[in-house]
Amino acid sequence: MATTEKMLRFVQVEQQMPDKRTPAARRQDFQEIYAEFEQARAEEQAGRCSQCGVPFCQIHCPLHNNIPDWLKLTAEGRLEEAYEVSQATNNFPEICGRICPQDRLCEGNCVIEKGFESVTIGSVEKYITDTAWEKGWVRPPTPRRELHRSVGIIGGGPAGLAAAEQLRRKGYAVHVYDRYDRLGGLMTYGIPNFKLEKQVVQRRVDLLAQGGVVFQANFEVGRDATLANLRERHDAVLIATGVYKARDIQAPGAGLANIFPAMDYLTASNRKGLGDKVAAFDDGTLDARDKNVVVIGGGDTAMDCVRTAVRQGAKSVKCLYRRNRANMPGSQREVYHAEEEGVEFVWLAAPEAFIGGKPAGRKKAKHEVVTAVRAVRMRLGVADSSGRQVPEKIEGSEFNLPADMVIKALGFDPEDIPGLFGAPALGITRWGTIKIDWRTMMTAIDGVFAAGDIVRGASLVVWAVSDGRDAAEAIDTYIAGKYAPALAAAAE
Ligand code: FAD
Ligand code: SF4
Ligand code: SF4
Repeated sequence: MATTEKMLRFVQVEQQMPDKRTPAARRQDFQEIYAEFEQARAEEQAGRCSQCGVPFCQIHCPLHNNIPDWLKLTAEGRLEEAYEVSQATNNFPEICGRICPQDRLCEGNCVIEKGFESVTIGSVEKYITDTAWEKGWVRPPTPRRELHRSVGIIGGGPAGLAAAEQLRRKGYAVHVYDRYDRLGGLMTYGIPNFKLEKQVVQRRVDLLAQGGVVFQANFEVGRDATLANLRERHDAVLIATGVYKARDIQAPGAGLANIFPAMDYLTASNRKGLGDKVAAFDDGTLDARDKNVVVIGGGDTAMDCVRTAVRQGAKSVKCLYRRNRANMPGSQREVYHAEEEGVEFVWLAAPEAFIGGKPAGRKKAKHEVVTAVRAVRMRLGVADSSGRQVPEKIEGSEFNLPADMVIKALGFDPEDIPGLFGAPALGITRWGTIKIDWRTMMTAIDGVFAAGDIVRGASLVVWAVSDGRDAAEAIDTYIAGKYAPALAAAAE
């Protein structure tokens, strides 16, 4: 088949995702739910692209990945070149291919979506880079020359790791400090294995270490050093600490036992998957097995909680969300997966109170545990200034949902980073995120930059990667400007 005949095949070839495991099989374990494309299928699916002159997929990808080009190269069987194009704009294409909400980004804006269903961009991206790993095309970021300047990065999530790779490639000595024992941030301890297997993250961290990036785990800035200490140690510092303060519910009974923040629940589950001992899971507290579980919230975190509870063998799993399906912030694809796996969605309903009682068979117990969620039906009223319809209570519509375990997934706010870091001069926005000048990515402190969720609020991995790359460029410009004569001498 001639090259041109390999493309524009969306009329003849239907959209096909890689094979998906059956819901029954998925409920039994935490493995990813999609198989890999076979080469012929990847080529065929990539060939559905109509090679748009103005590719809306690319415009709506936060990294502006050159999607039409790598689809064409894949369709032609030129996978190594496809990989080179794909990795030029994305540090973790196989991760984004797995977990980007493509229905809201690239695929949701694919022009053939209307009438023919979009090109399966994410699955092809994952296929290209997984193949590159298999074939040994993915290489550590070894610089052509050392610049003898160093950058300290606080936080080893996607923003910090993307910046680390970009800076190391340029020749900086890069030190990543993270308060956890493993790197990867929310990709390791937040996002469950069935969306992103942990070895996919770990092999990236290992690759950076091979390239000379120095990781200091169990190092908490604010406890083990101040920001000023790190600023003295490095020519520039990047803050990429993410957002972790869980939003809470103010309602009668909210202090009852067995009501948990989502991250406690997900971190325990991810740690168990990694083989750690987790006392609060091992004694049954954070394990959903045989329980009626109610998850409150409608974002990605809530979807991850309900699907984790299903896999842990919960008796029933319900998701309570105050808006309707069309207005939920999470990916529609994730809702569909959750429904397939047996999760029940209770749309347009919000918690009013938590009802407690003595734990079953322990009448003399001192503490009461949650036994039900008292909820009320909602309707969508007029839109607020953001254009979103505001949910309103329907009086007299209260009902109870039995619950042995309640998980709160209502979103995250930033911690008080200036206070924790002993750096009151760091400016913050009215949302508590760190204030930067978006043209330079620099904070109010000279030589201190910030990127990822701590700047934009809870967001997405792909935006964190984009910010990390921008920050790396900005740091390079800053250091080059400041130390131009010394760097020029090093280059000679
Ligand atoms: P993080 O990933 O949070 O990394 C920050 C790092 O900083 C952490 O490792 C932390 O330990 C470290 N740190 C914090 N404070 C300190 C300190 N004082 N000293 C040293 N280190 C510190 N996005 C998607 O695109 N797709 C998804 O499917 C998806 N699912 C999600 C599911 C859940 C449950 C959650 C919570 C988020 C999800 N997200 C998803 C969002 C995504 O994970 C984040 O937007 C992204 O990880 C942000 O990257 P980051 O590097 O800014 O921060
Ligand atoms: Fe789509 Fe995300 Fe890949 Fe961009 S990075 S092409 S948005 S899957
Ligand atoms: Fe191809 Fe769709 Fe992108 Fe057009 S919008 S270039 S059809 S993937």
